[in-house]
Amino acid sequence: MSRYPAKVSLREVGPRDGLQNEAPVPTADKIALLDALGQTGVRRIEAVSFVHPRAIPQMADAEEVWAGAKRNADVAYSALVPNARGAERALAAGFTELEVVVSASDTHNRKNINRSTEESLDGIAELIGTVHGAGGTVEVIVSTSFGCPYEGEVATSRVVSVVDRAAAAGADRIAFGDTTGMGTPTRVTALVDAVRSRHAELPLLLHFHNTRGTALANVLAALQLGVTEFDASVGGLGGCPYAPGASGNLASEELVHMLEDMGIDTGVDLDALVDAARLAERIVGRELPSAVLRAGPRTRRAVLG
Ligand code: ZN
Repeated sequence: MSRYPAKVSLREVGPRDGLQNEAPVPTADKIALLDALGQTGVRRIEAVSFVHPRAIPQMADAEEVWAGAKRNADVAYSALVPNARGAERALAAGFTELEVVVSASDTHNRKNINRSTEESLDGIAELIGTVHGAGGTVEVIVSTSFGCPYEGEVATSRVVSVVDRAAAAGADRIAFGDTTGMGTPTRVTALVDAVRSRHAELPLLLHFHNTRGTALANVLAALQLGVTEFDASVGGLGGCPYAPGASGNLASEELVHMLEDMGIDTGVDLDALVDAARLAERIVGRELPSAVLRAGPRTRRAVLG
């Protein structure tokens, strides 16, 4: 297995991406989940988003959640922002690692924020300048990178052209979001190869959804290409917004379980993570899709009865 990286950096996105796609939960529960995850060994957590409360009521209490969290000094916390106003709020709250989203699919971008992809990229270029001026970093998340629920296929060349513009604007990292779980190992390999050949030095993070059961296979394909940064969500928190009842985010326990078995260091304590997933399940009041949460790690033995 020497062709795989020795270490992987997992970013836990349950508190933001996960909870944003669930029914609203109380502020205290969000804080409890953040605190539990901060003690699992995870070194990066997407904590909140500074979006307009009317647009996304689930995140209306971002400032309160962040102020109430017991922050672990060993964890890098990040925040998602939709625009310059959101960036101001995030910076004022003390965040230095910011994320912005743009969709590679024009139709998806218009449905979400009523602007074309190009118009969004203009705004992002400006936002990056502001955040850099304040000493922060900006990750540009390219959603619908592996397909669009409205347009279907999204050409690799289209995604690459979005990366070209984001890189030219000074993006500190690019993330590819598989918004509706349309990614497959074939498509992951094509996109990562294409972007690496043009932007070899640009840090790359992959965000998979398990909507069609391909998330871990996609991770494996990306590991073979040397990708070392992945998003995952505790318990698989966050459903698929376009297919009620379907899975969304790859579950963090499934990712850690596979990587550790491969001898790839994640730094995460799987038992602590499973406990956090149980907490997440209690908070949202529904059974979460994580297979490792359901079945336990592969060495868990049945109780003889
Ligand atoms: Zn997601």
